[in-house]
Amino acid sequence: MKSFKTESKKILELMINSIYTNKEIFLRELVSNASDALDKLYFKSLTDSNLQIKKDDLKIKISIDKPARTLTISDNGVGMTQPELENNLGTIAKSGSQEFKQNVQKSDKSDSQISIIGQFGVGFYSAFMVADNVKVISKAYGQNDAYEWQSCGVDGYDILPAQKQDYGTDIILHIKPNTDDENYDKFLDEFEIQSLVKKYSDFIKYPIMLLRTRTQKDKDGNKEEKQEFETVNSQKPLWQRDKKDIKPEEYDEFYSS
Ligand code: ADP
Ligand code: MG
Repeated sequence: MKSFKTESKKILELMINSIYTNKEIFLRELVSNASDALDKLYFKSLTDSNLQIKKDDLKIKISIDKPARTLTISDNGVGMTQPELENNLGTIAKSGSQEFKQNVQKSDKSDSQISIIGQFGVGFYSAFMVADNVKVISKAYGQNDAYEWQSCGVDGYDILPAQKQDYGTDIILHIKPNTDDENYDKFLDEFEIQSLVKKYSDFIKYPIMLLRTRTQKDKDGNKEEKQEFETVNSQKPLWQRDKKDIKPEEYDEFYSS
């Protein structure tokens, strides 16, 4: 097992032990990373005519496996090579997370550190607010080999060869058990996930497709369950939407992003 860099460890500890009430923002962070990965592949295809990428094929998929307690966020974006998994997930990244780190270091009190979580794009590590194990299975576009990064938190991470058919990335979160203070089960609920996507990621310009379970009656009148991916985001920025459909919290979320 490999160790996280000191500053990464600090942020991870903060995430894992967080008593922050808005833990749900992890989904916004992972969806935004997926969207960035789709952007990167799309821009690559604009400058390299050998790449056969159709804009309509770029998608984010979310699925829940309740018995396994997993929530999976998948994209068919650029993906990551083995060294990229190492560099991007083993150390703290530049943008949002870096700014977050600096602010955390400025404030010593843990409660003010916690209030900082909500103000920044805190990035990939926010997954550890809700998950006790995180797996990232990725295949970089144009590569034959896939790799899995996996971690249970501060102790460190492993990177191993993996099987993955298509390029892109699957983030598999093993959701924490409920505690007296915190209901984590809700992150395994389709309706909750759907409403979180609408609340935080509605304007993401790629389809975010959630695996939905529908109960149907077959021709003999027996009930059967059917699973299908359904697009849950409108993909429109706020100013292109009908005023009467916009909720106050969507305005708030828009301004803070
Ligand atoms: P940021 O998005 O601010 O750079 P994050 O902590 O959210 O920081 O992500 C760290 C890095 O990990 C990203 O910059 C990106 O290189 C990589 N990454 C995360 N998720 C994905 C993904 N789904 N596909 C490809 N790369 C990813
Ligand atoms: Mg990010």
